[in-house]
Amino acid sequence: MTTTIIGFPRIGAQRELKFATEKYFRKQITATELTQIGKDLRKRHWLELQNAGIDQIPSNDFSFYDNLLDTAFLFNALPAAIANAPLSDFDKYFALARGYQGSAGDFKAWPMKKWFNTNYHYLVPQLTNNTAFRYHGGKIRDEFLEAKELGITTRPTIIGPFTLLQLSELDDTVAAEDFTQDLLTAYGDLFSDLAANGAEWIQIDEPSLVYDLTDGQIQWVCDFYQQLLSKKGVAKILLQTYFGDIRDIYHQVLNLDFDGIGLDFIEGKESKKLVESGFPADKVLFAGVVNGKNIWRNNYQQTLNLLQELPVEKLVLSTSCSLLHVPYTVATEQFKPDIKKHFAFANEKLTELNELNLLQQNKQLDLLQKNQQLFATPRVEENLELHHQIEKLTETDFVRKPDFEERKKQQENALNLPLLPTTTIGSFPQTKPVKHARVALRKGEITQDEYDEFIKQHIQEWIKWQEDVGFDVLVHGEFERNDMVEYFGQHLSGYLFTKNGWVQSYGTRAVKPPIIWGDVSRKEPITVKWSAYAQSLTDKPVKGMLTGPVTILNWSFPREDISLEESTLQIALAIQAEVLDLEKHGITIIQIDEAALREKLPLRKSDWNSEYLNWAIPAFRLVHSKVQATTQIHTHMCYSEFGDIIHAIDQMDADVISFEASRSNLEILQQLQDQHFKTLVGPGVYDIHSPRVPAKTEIINELHQILAKVPQQNIWVNPDCGLKTRGESETKASLVNLTEATRQVRRELGYGQSID
Ligand code: GLN
Ligand code: ZN
Repeated sequence: MTTTIIGFPRIGAQRELKFATEKYFRKQITATELTQIGKDLRKRHWLELQNAGIDQIPSNDFSFYDNLLDTAFLFNALPAAIANAPLSDFDKYFALARGYQGSAGDFKAWPMKKWFNTNYHYLVPQLTNNTAFRYHGGKIRDEFLEAKELGITTRPTIIGPFTLLQLSELDDTVAAEDFTQDLLTAYGDLFSDLAANGAEWIQIDEPSLVYDLTDGQIQWVCDFYQQLLSKKGVAKILLQTYFGDIRDIYHQVLNLDFDGIGLDFIEGKESKKLVESGFPADKVLFAGVVNGKNIWRNNYQQTLNLLQELPVEKLVLSTSCSLLHVPYTVATEQFKPDIKKHFAFANEKLTELNELNLLQQNKQLDLLQKNQQLFATPRVEENLELHHQIEKLTETDFVRKPDFEERKKQQENALNLPLLPTTTIGSFPQTKPVKHARVALRKGEITQDEYDEFIKQHIQEWIKWQEDVGFDVLVHGEFERNDMVEYFGQHLSGYLFTKNGWVQSYGTRAVKPPIIWGDVSRKEPITVKWSAYAQSLTDKPVKGMLTGPVTILNWSFPREDISLEESTLQIALAIQAEVLDLEKHGITIIQIDEAALREKLPLRKSDWNSEYLNWAIPAFRLVHSKVQATTQIHTHMCYSEFGDIIHAIDQMDADVISFEASRSNLEILQQLQDQHFKTLVGPGVYDIHSPRVPAKTEIINELHQILAKVPQQNIWVNPDCGLKTRGESETKASLVNLTEATRQVRRELGYGQSID
């Protein structure tokens, strides 16, 4: 038996890739320098895998921004305008990733979407009848050769054609089938090229196979791979799946000429059953038995039992998905040994694979004993009072009174906002001084009072700026927060924090998910001080700004010894206390962000309600069910694809929802209209993930599109998301355009003409 992994985190132990890439964006280093830094990182990671005893090492799992973008780029699938722009390949690549404004033109970035049920975001290739997939060497070959020079024959990985097409957006001019021939040639050329250069195995990632599949999709996959594999050449091909099981296509896949099949035994509830129903003796099973998403140690006994029950001759031990989704190493963290021993990050998971491999061969049985001890005793003490409180919850705790329509009337009277009220999503740029102040406080270089004074100063300046520019509902700016989940975690009991547990979220951005270690409850008021201060500075309403329970859970590493539902209810009660506290302190609008609500939505529709929505939506309602009718509850979501869960979102019973929309061409609006969405909506009118400043006319145009679908009295105007990652000047310019565009559209609608 041998060991492998599907992919490794690429940002570097100290997020070197992020810092280097951002320097390149700021023109502080050259493309050559950035290329070299990428190369150094790859080398380091390959050697680390080798030293850890991993037998089959992947390559091309590295990316400067995103693997799907890499794949589109590798196959030449870029829009003509960018392909023809006078830019280097590197800059074309980054133009697609983050937009470009300059002498070579003005290009919008490709939209970004969440990668399956993770918090990683990929770029959505935009395919048209001008797209012609073609393989011409490039990154995948270069990186294979780079490793080869180090004496390592890697297994190049590439996203497969089915997943590529499933995740791309096609305009009206084309259908997916139109690309079949080109893709056959392109992947065929890629196989022969890599084989010619010495590749022994090639890994094709097809995570889209874990969804519910239609007969047509199954047929397409079978036909495609039958043709492709008929001329596959000398390299062996691994079909790699993850994030679930492939029950809809398992038996068909076995009949295709793959040499290896990678299955996920962690999230794939039926993987074991499928393999038990038969697995060909001539194929290798890449068994994903070490969890690629959690941070807890593997339970060796359980894993060994599982492996023993698999009727398979050739087996490679692997991770359930790429290790991209976990932090780099626990070794440099400062937890007490008794705590630390429970964790396995990416590096430690390599060790686990190695140890499991030894144990499989009946070697070093002491490793098993040590591991068993970890799971033998309960890890934490229970908070009995909290358990009792949760048991006592009844139906009415989850229902806000009066109903939406009645609240709407009362809120209109109480708040007296203009047509198309303008607001932002919460955070303003976290400039260097803001970050420095936080670090200085942590290091004891400034006192808490000095820090508070500094934050107050910022709040004051931005409240004034928002008033000057003419926003209707203001925000305090979230300057006190490093992160919308970690900040809350710090004020809740039951949480642990890493020093360096960064996980890539998109491009150069990484998050540091806190760890839910024990029962969660509110230790103290969390945001009240800052919100109340901001409100004291102005007559306009200042939105209270909270993170919702589902997002706090989804962006933390959750416990595995109690259910997600149980943890979420604990968090919901803590946030409920905060909501009521804000209300008591005169905050009349409270936004409860559920940025990550969709993230843990099961990939298979049949599991949506039973396994997730049935507790996630009530948990949100629990948070705001006790507020007064006149307190307006907002929520925010970071994605626009909720067409299919619109009813669930309406059932959150918020009064207003803002969401990402502009980067996905406002496609959600039609669905809102069709499904009679009741909640008031603020579809983001410009993309904040890009430094690009939207022109006033562009925003006016967006507003016209929104007005065509949504009754005008239901519309709020705001950017896509929080602005903390943006620079100050681009933010201010964009927001000025937003307010001016809104005023102009109000005039067009004849609103407030007598006053203006
Ligand atoms: N209120 C948060 C902010 O503005 C929301 C961020 C998010 O949705 N990711 O930063
Ligand atoms: Zn957002």
